[in-house]
Amino acid sequence: MVSLHEMTLPRVVVVGEGLEGVIVERLSSLEAGRYCIFMLTSPTPYSLIARKIESEVNGRVDVELVMITGQLSDEELESLGRRAVDVEAKAIVGVGGGRVLDVAKAVAELSGKPFISIPTVASHDGIASPMTSVRRGGRAYSRKAVMPTEIIADMKVISQAPRRYTLSGCGDLVAKYSAVRDWWLGHKERGEYYGRYAAHLAYLSSIITMRSAQLIGRNSGEGVRTVVEALISAGVAMGIAGSSRPCSGSEHLIAHALEYMMDNPPLHGERCGVATVFTSYLHGVNWRKVKEALKTMGAPSSLKELKIDEELFADAVAKAPSLRVERYTILHKLQLGRGRVKEIVEEIGLVD
Ligand SMILES: [Zn+2]
Repeated sequence: MVSLHEMTLPRVVVVGEGLEGVIVERLSSLEAGRYCIFMLTSPTPYSLIARKIESEVNGRVDVELVMITGQLSDEELESLGRRAVDVEAKAIVGVGGGRVLDVAKAVAELSGKPFISIPTVASHDGIASPMTSVRRGGRAYSRKAVMPTEIIADMKVISQAPRRYTLSGCGDLVAKYSAVRDWWLGHKERGEYYGRYAAHLAYLSSIITMRSAQLIGRNSGEGVRTVVEALISAGVAMGIAGSSRPCSGSEHLIAHALEYMMDNPPLHGERCGVATVFTSYLHGVNWRKVKEALKTMGAPSSLKELKIDEELFADAVAKAPSLRVERYTILHKLQLGRGRVKEIVEEIGLVD
């Protein structure tokens, strides 16, 4: 049997300030002659940048614009995929935050068209990854869709997003500190495929983010740019690994469990960041460093800040391993009881 490992990587990545002109130019020169692009966005990114892109490419390129305002059903997604095929779109362009990019990825996959990612917030690593988060029966889970062929990140737009989103992106990056350790554990104890390079790349994105805590805390342009580049790099690590394994471990399972249990859960990266303090403790690595870095950035570093009490957290930790039984992590190995979870939470100061 031939052992194949397929890597998918973006063809073009552009990060810079004030990229409207670059975006218009790229979208207008996908091929010679007149063609259509299928652009998905939502109200805020539309007013920030997508409206301008739409009006400036119009005349050279036809734009089929789709405004996303809520959660889409499978049928609605499939119908968007058919529409993209019907208009013979040359590319699916997502301009917006996590939800818009997730929908755009799904439409690209359904229609077999290339996907161009234009993130307007840096809230999680989906801006540059082949993974998409899907909701089914009230549950969100991630599965592999398509890697963006192009990622164009305009720092001018991303810097205007509420700071909370960028800090959420930091939590999603810090998470790689424990995620790669879960991956190694899965390899060592379950014989799972492990890619040393992808693991190191994801790990590096967490280390760089923690080392940039002060820059990020001061909300400097350089700090936000580092976060965006680290998120892209984490996305590439998933492209190399062929799964979300290097970027999503026990801390993500806890974050997902919390999402199911709460009516108004904190942002994805906020949950992941705090959960990483806990899972780093379980892995026997420097959880203090993680906590301190989050605090210095101004990101939530305790359950209290997320309005999660220790009972709810203990429930989430108990539920987490069952969300993905095949993805072995430190939680599957340790099988902690609720009492032990609460002891640890107190020991590492997550409730005060
Ligand atoms: Zn994540």
